[in-house]
Amino acid sequence: MDHAHGSYLYTKDQKKYLDFISGIAVCSIGHTNSQVVKAICKQAKQYLHVMVYGEYIQEPQVRLAEKLCALLPDALSSVYFTNSGTEAVEGALKLSKKFTGRKRLIGFQNSYHGDTHGSLSVTGREVYRKPFYPLLPHVNFLPFNVTKSLMNIDQTVAAVITEPIQGEGGMIIPDKTFLQALQARCRKVGALLILDEAQTGLGRTGKNFAMEHFKIVPDILVLAKSLGGGLPLGAFISRPKIMRTLSTNPPLSHVTTFGGHPVSCAAGLASLDIVLKKNLVERAKKMGMTLLLSLKKLAQQYSVIREARGLGLMIGLEFKEAEPCMQFVENARAHGLLLGWTLHTNRVVRIAPPFTLSHQELKEGLAIMKRVLERLSSQNSTHC
Ligand code: PMP
Repeated sequence: MDHAHGSYLYTKDQKKYLDFISGIAVCSIGHTNSQVVKAICKQAKQYLHVMVYGEYIQEPQVRLAEKLCALLPDALSSVYFTNSGTEAVEGALKLSKKFTGRKRLIGFQNSYHGDTHGSLSVTGREVYRKPFYPLLPHVNFLPFNVTKSLMNIDQTVAAVITEPIQGEGGMIIPDKTFLQALQARCRKVGALLILDEAQTGLGRTGKNFAMEHFKIVPDILVLAKSLGGGLPLGAFISRPKIMRTLSTNPPLSHVTTFGGHPVSCAAGLASLDIVLKKNLVERAKKMGMTLLLSLKKLAQQYSVIREARGLGLMIGLEFKEAEPCMQFVENARAHGLLLGWTLHTNRVVRIAPPFTLSHQELKEGLAIMKRVLERLSSQNSTHC
């Protein structure tokens, strides 16, 4: 890699790549946005690390927290910044156990929540878990999007954690009724609902937060990825009454040296300002609809594809088999287009371009995909 700008990456050997993956849903406003870079430099000149998070008031943290809370339902008004998504999940899990005084945690099959021990303990794919046993005890998994299984959530459960849309699971969009039933069941038995919007949050799905599509409000919200505008930053956000449990008995129940680093917060703030000022969430929605429509047409045209699905600019292209899926991603890269994998399935290609993608760039990406599919289909002789 040599440098990156807007929707493109440039390598040392003078190649240019159109980025349809954004460092996995991180670079929502494109690469090296000048205002974000300026905010980073300004903060770097003012101060870097001065004290562990929470000890002194640091303006970038406060301003970013305020901006996030203004976008969220009133209940979610207490923000704890971390360095990453997995650390935000760790904080959320600990918070739920301490607040409820309960031990059990429930996750969903095929979910992904990060790779530290706690997050891995609630990640629903055995192949990634098994080498690291023993993980956290008292964790159970339920099938995703199966409402009747929610009856297994009872008064012993501290928290249920889910993504609103399973990203690594292959862009699985659940029924609205499922997530609403999950929220209702959690409320009934007094379990906290943790919604992991590390990937879906901050506009990616065409709404500020994916929870808005499903009309649910979690007890704890997890954010990461694009939150730091390209720098490492995560957060878990909850009601003050819940969050206060981390400040007492013992007072420092959850601390972090670098979480909410002022430079990351300054970058995140600049990035979020741009998203809001330029109405990029609406743009993600519209560009997503255009892209998905074209991909659905490709799915009809080329029989190697099973389905194109997504919300906003979080799109999955599911192939019927693994081999053509792998070849598709590799050949697209050879033609200058970067696409991604999903962790839990080898048949789904992840498409998550920056929200700032131009119509011309969208056309360019689609043309490459079409060219690659044409080749693949003639090789496999499956072109209808
Ligand atoms: N939760 C979800 C839903 C994610 O997609 C990811 C990262 N792919 C994480 C948590 C972990 O985030 P990080 O890599 O920043 O630890």
